[in-house]
Amino acid sequence: MTRAAPHVTHEVLNQVPPLAGYDVADDPALIDALRREGVGDPAELHELGERAGSAATQDLARLANEHPPVLRTHDSRGNRIDEVEFHPAWHELMAVAVGHGMHAAPWLSADPGEHVARAARFYVWTQAEAGHGCPISMTYASVPALRHAPELASRFGALLGSRSYDPGLRVPDGKAGLLAGMAMTEKQGGSDVRANTTRAVPVGDGYQLTGHKWFCSAPMCDLFLVLAQAPEGLTCFLLPRVLPDGTRNAMRIQRLKDKLGNRSNASSEVEYDAAFAWPVGEPGRGVATIIEMVSATRLDCVIGSAAATRLACVTAAHYAGIRRSFGTTLATHPLMASVLADLALESEAATTVAMRLAGAADRASRGDATEAALLRLALPAAKYWVCKRTPMVTGEALECLGGNGYVEESGMPRLYRDAPLNSVWEGSGNVTALDVLRALARSPGSADTLLAEIDLAAGADRRLDAAAGRLRCALKEAAAADSEGGMGRWAGQSGARRLAGLIALTLQGSLLVRHAPAAVADAFCASRLGTEPAGGPGVPFGTLPDGLDLDPVLGRAAVSVRG
Ligand SMILES: Cc1cc2nc3c(=O)[nH]c(=O)nc-3n(C[C@H](O)[C@H](O)[C@H](O)COP(=O)(O)OP(=O)(O)OC[C@H]3O[C@@H](n4cnc5c(N)ncnc54)[C@H](O)[C@@H]3O)c2cc1C
Repeated sequence: MTRAAPHVTHEVLNQVPPLAGYDVADDPALIDALRREGVGDPAELHELGERAGSAATQDLARLANEHPPVLRTHDSRGNRIDEVEFHPAWHELMAVAVGHGMHAAPWLSADPGEHVARAARFYVWTQAEAGHGCPISMTYASVPALRHAPELASRFGALLGSRSYDPGLRVPDGKAGLLAGMAMTEKQGGSDVRANTTRAVPVGDGYQLTGHKWFCSAPMCDLFLVLAQAPEGLTCFLLPRVLPDGTRNAMRIQRLKDKLGNRSNASSEVEYDAAFAWPVGEPGRGVATIIEMVSATRLDCVIGSAAATRLACVTAAHYAGIRRSFGTTLATHPLMASVLADLALESEAATTVAMRLAGAADRASRGDATEAALLRLALPAAKYWVCKRTPMVTGEALECLGGNGYVEESGMPRLYRDAPLNSVWEGSGNVTALDVLRALARSPGSADTLLAEIDLAAGADRRLDAAAGRLRCALKEAAAADSEGGMGRWAGQSGARRLAGLIALTLQGSLLVRHAPAAVADAFCASRLGTEPAGGPGVPFGTLPDGLDLDPVLGRAAVSVRG
């Protein structure tokens, strides 16, 4: 019997192949920044970039998010085990991140540039999948806080920096590599950690902690930096999941959060039932101790959001370069070119400021006081601004793919869901903006350091000069308001977001004027450094002024895909 030929209803036309098989590190703003920071041969970074942009890795990312972690509170006989089970794809992603030293490895070396090289790897690899960046980032950030307890730092420091990924709950000293988390937030408040109610009672060479934490991400980490109320006041502790005698510490996982995004990562609610922990830093000085971890994690929030911005922008540019409407590709329609170029500017500015701050962190870690002062003011400002812009960027980039961008297979919904997170944690928007005011009050030299950095581009662009002048007045007014209780646009807490935004934008402008191609710097200053944004306050992307040279701007967002 002859078979009927399959009935052909239609031919698939004008659909864009997924962006896969490309080098994520093919990113001129990133590579230029590495060159400026004196980080050598980027060959390893390009290898990692190829891996991050491969279809195989994209599949791992999909699997890790479609099969989120599962909590196992008890074993089959009713014993508490408090374990979280992950899909193998999660472990593969983690093994790459640890193997490339994206966690605490840079702290093992005193070589200049180690933290910048690590920041670049984190930026590239987090574009593959953002969720697993959480334990990687917390492990990186744990070391400066842990150094307040030199004995614990020498006992665990090398294992936190080990390039062996060794999952599973075992005695930390015997493992090939360790991961660290942090637990500060409680039910009654996360921003105001001084309201923590978890109690710490001295016992033997440590303390017993009793209480709860409302958010404790990556609860399968080996060690946690925890805040609790000791008799001396709020204190930082190091809590091991498994005690030195091999028994499990009394950290009970109550449930996992059902989150908007970040679904591959487990975020839990935990209770401590006389759990054992060692003190870190001076008792009663818990905030001052853990703040070093917070600062390093904030840097990763900026890097992670810059990475998400880059991925959104590159994906939109790739799609619009192939998809056709009304007889030509989307990217050649003038209004779409304006949207894409606007996204590219946002991306270039975010990447450039993130890498500048990574350089400052690198030098500050080796005792450079000027760079530490710059970081103290510029980091909260950039954390506020770059992280706040990311949800808008991903929303706009998603729309460049039309309806396809709204569909899970495009990858854009995951990017969009993940986008607000960096702004929420490690100091939500308001809290981070208020930290800018705190930095001005407590580190008065930081304003002069910031202005000196911005002035390195003085005279090169009149719009930047004008913005720097406005910033100078604003910083003076904010400082005077703090010491004399003055009034004005920049005085007081209600102006904190405005000030943080002005700092971030002016610093970005200065960096781009000095380091980016002229067309990029020109378009950035024209669209972002006026007294008001080009189309009025709060306008969406795609409102660039006329007359700009957009081709070189768009060229920065183009990547080549292997055939
Ligand atoms: C996915 C996820 C994972 C997390 N993982 C961890 C973790 O591992 N460990 C951990 O300790 N925490 C973790 N957190 C918690 C996170 O750090 C807190 O949610 C955050 O610090 C805010 O605290 P909160 O939720 O209690 O909000 P609140 O403190 O109640 O604040 C609510 C809002 O009010 C604003 N606000 C607060 N104070 C002021 C003020 N003085 N002026 C103006 N506005 C103010 C804040 O900016 C925020 O927008 C996680 C959160 C999420 C979403």
